[in-house]
Amino acid sequence: MSTAIQHDRSDLFIGGEFVAADSTARLHAINPATEERIGSIPDANERDIDRAVAAARAALPGWRRAGGAARSAILARVAEGIAARAEELKDLLLLQNGAPRWWRDQDVTITQMLYRQASMGAGQLEDETLVEAPNGGKTLLQREPIGVVAAISPWNAPQALLAMKVANALAAGCTVVAKPSPETSLDCYLLAEILRDAGVPSGVFNVVTGGPATGAALVAHPGIAKVSFTGSTASGKAVARECANTLKPLIAELGGKSAAVLLDDADVELFLSSIQREGLPFSGQACFCNARIIVPRKMQDEVVAGVIATLQSFRFGDPSDDETIMGPLVSARQKERVEGYIRSGLEEGAVLALGGNTPTGFDKGYYVAPTVFTGVTADMKIFREEIFGPVFTVSAYDTEEEAVMLHDATDFGLSGSVYSRDLARATEFSRKLSTGQLLINGQRGAPNALRDFYKQSAFGGGVDRIGGFLLTKGITQPIGDVKMKTIFG
Ligand code: NAD
Repeated sequence: MSTAIQHDRSDLFIGGEFVAADSTARLHAINPATEERIGSIPDANERDIDRAVAAARAALPGWRRAGGAARSAILARVAEGIAARAEELKDLLLLQNGAPRWWRDQDVTITQMLYRQASMGAGQLEDETLVEAPNGGKTLLQREPIGVVAAISPWNAPQALLAMKVANALAAGCTVVAKPSPETSLDCYLLAEILRDAGVPSGVFNVVTGGPATGAALVAHPGIAKVSFTGSTASGKAVARECANTLKPLIAELGGKSAAVLLDDADVELFLSSIQREGLPFSGQACFCNARIIVPRKMQDEVVAGVIATLQSFRFGDPSDDETIMGPLVSARQKERVEGYIRSGLEEGAVLALGGNTPTGFDKGYYVAPTVFTGVTADMKIFREEIFGPVFTVSAYDTEEEAVMLHDATDFGLSGSVYSRDLARATEFSRKLSTGQLLINGQRGAPNALRDFYKQSAFGGGVDRIGGFLLTKGITQPIGDVKMKTIFG
């Protein structure tokens, strides 16, 4: 019972229905490859948020009572629904964030996996355990959903990043008000249809669209019990400040400035083969991308030549061409931001080895050429700050201690890679680095090996898990003479 998606939306998904937004303000969606307007979404106001939170609160007792097995079955159907409508989702992603085919495929595949995993988790949830104290007293430990969750997500992998929040929160028995990024909200309407059609009861999942002010009002709403946020570190700090006002728990996945460190026995070809997926994936618009390359001085020329040749070999341009590896940036704002960093690199004395401009023939669309800076030192802005664009910095080191110092010289600690032919050496070196995830020789991360993100890349652990949406209540039952007993008898 799906309906065709309209690109001009004046509605929000609240209480299981698409209802007219109270707000008449609209935000426009622009195709980043062509700069054409493709639609619009409501910039939801506080009355819209009130309605969505009220619907989520009303749905909470029923969703909790439904139990883990029923929630598991529904989440499994959501995964099936995503598979059935995968191409529609990917078409909307292409129009909104200009992601190349391979990145869109990955976003939707991971999304299905996350709903499947959450379905399994919900099926295995134990609501109660009985703990016995040394005095024979019994305490019933009851796990309860924390309440209504605000799920706020960015545009770069919009479906998967929202799924991490929504799938786990729903599995735990929470209800959700989602606030997707204004750049990618149209696909969230389709997601709402998929959840509704999979049997998610009315009010359990709601969508309010809008920009940062809508997000901030949602975070501040007294009916929200927990906030799950993914976005930039700057926005994360604003969200954390708002959460502090009401002491709402927050889990935030934030920015990154990850690095690939090549040790002096690294397989350079292997490293070069990782650039598409880990170096500058989606034109560097990925939180985990290894935008810094840290390399032994004696290998620098070979590595830089290889990086340039690899970037030049990528099909660059129109993301609707399935062979494209690097397309446009998401927005005019993002292009300006990246160009600002390129100017700053030049001003601070880094050497431009490739790109740094709008490539010829790409005057329409938000394109920036793949760019490589060499001679980048730890005090430069392009080394320390997240650019979120197709810009590599290359820094040379003489000793491994210096490599560790360079690696750790940012406020971020999200991800990173170490390249060496000697697995034991790479593992020992990885132990010294201040980051939450290290991929040796570009090995993909195992989705079930849950790790934290370090430093300003996260707050509250930074990885959504079902347990993060549960609270534990202890109900201790009296034995004998309550007044005389201590817990030890
Ligand atoms: P952003 O911080 O501008 O926006 C993210 C979301 O937060 C959007 O929905 C936005 O409307 C909302 N928002 C912004 N300010 C807010 C506020 N004060 N209160 C409530 N909501 C607010 O980020 P973006 O440009 O959409 O995404 C790119 C950023 O996200 C990068 O920094 C990237 O590293 C980060 N990111 C991190 C991860 C991760 O897992 N750590 C994954 C993807 C993206």
